[in-house]
Amino acid sequence: MELTTIDRFPLSGKRVFIRVDFNVPLSDTGAVADDTRIREALPTIHYARQQGAIVLLASHLGRPKGKVDPAFSLKPAAERLGELLETPVKLAPDCVGPAVQAQLAQLSAGDVLVLENLRFHAGEEKNDPAFAQALAALADVYINDAFGSSHREHASVVGMVQHFKLKGIGLLMRKEIAALSRLLAHPEPPFVVILGGAKVSDKIGLIGSLLPRVQTMIIGGAMAYTVQKAQGVAVGKSRVEADKVAEVKTVLAEAEQRSVALLLPKDHIVVSELKAGASASTTPGRDIPDNLLGVDIGPQSIESFRAAIRSARTILWNGPMGVFEIPPFDQGTRALAETVAATASFSVIGGGDTVSAITQAGLADRISHISTGGGASLEFLEAGDLPGLAALR
Ligand code: AMP
Repeated sequence: MELTTIDRFPLSGKRVFIRVDFNVPLSDTGAVADDTRIREALPTIHYARQQGAIVLLASHLGRPKGKVDPAFSLKPAAERLGELLETPVKLAPDCVGPAVQAQLAQLSAGDVLVLENLRFHAGEEKNDPAFAQALAALADVYINDAFGSSHREHASVVGMVQHFKLKGIGLLMRKEIAALSRLLAHPEPPFVVILGGAKVSDKIGLIGSLLPRVQTMIIGGAMAYTVQKAQGVAVGKSRVEADKVAEVKTVLAEAEQRSVALLLPKDHIVVSELKAGASASTTPGRDIPDNLLGVDIGPQSIESFRAAIRSARTILWNGPMGVFEIPPFDQGTRALAETVAATASFSVIGGGDTVSAITQAGLADRISHISTGGGASLEFLEAGDLPGLAALR
């Protein structure tokens, strides 16, 4: 069954529950430190208001673990949304219950109410049926525009959906699905995938499912050390997932059988201890001495990765090439960010660190699609679907 987008529903006078992803980072003073996720939700919110809907917005923020905790209130997000919409936006005292119902009864067409943090109730993460039903009781139409949360089987994403006849996706969700589906369905070759970050275990499933579609796979970050270990190359004290070595060997064999070019670092930036200001050196080759650990890709690696990226017509990138948070170990990631941005390829980027690398370098507008969901984009690419989307079908 096809998913229906919000613009196919009659919304006038209807209460429309929109699951958004307002899980934004907050500053020390409690203000919204980065409003990207709120801005990304604006097209759907504008549309619903223009159509005369009463708009209810629901999100989680952080991990309050099923209890009310004012530090995780959605108040700053509601305030920021009000500024962006140039209209007052109310914050409900809760996300379910009589007080919310009473507040809803006061609203008219075009009004926007932000419900308080869904995760103040344990029922959200447990996908509790009673909590799901209480959420569903608030509205006539259900819209999921929270791509970044749709890989989770939570009440607001999965449980409540069955209670609606009118249910579908928002405009951000449509955009995410369109971009990622293009990578799955007909990526123009050469399709170059760049994977990095901390753990091979997060991405090994994705590597396996992408192998039939890609021409080149670049692996950097700490992930590369587990692969290097599987190949019998010394990794020193680098971060390795020893229990994944066997699985990596299987994937390496499959890559070879499918003639996928697997590019691994040819050299590494290494330190004796991972901390800011650590004195670093560059290895001449792939081997990492026993007393050292890898923190970034080296200059030969950057050159070889760049050459592959420059030839790409389609690029997917998820995960930094090194310990990006501690400069200068962000150099490999930054170099690749510049190279990806300079190509004329269809480029898709996901994952918090990779997106920050691109954004901080001022290159975001040179990327075809920046996904709002790290984990969700990986899962969508691996499985071709997400629990939140399956629930709507
Ligand atoms: P992920 O969330 O899996 O995309 O991983 C991001 C994290 O990977 C960042 O916090 C990086 O610091 C970390 N990372 C990348 N390269 C390395 C490395 N060589 N050693 C340790 N951690 C790394």
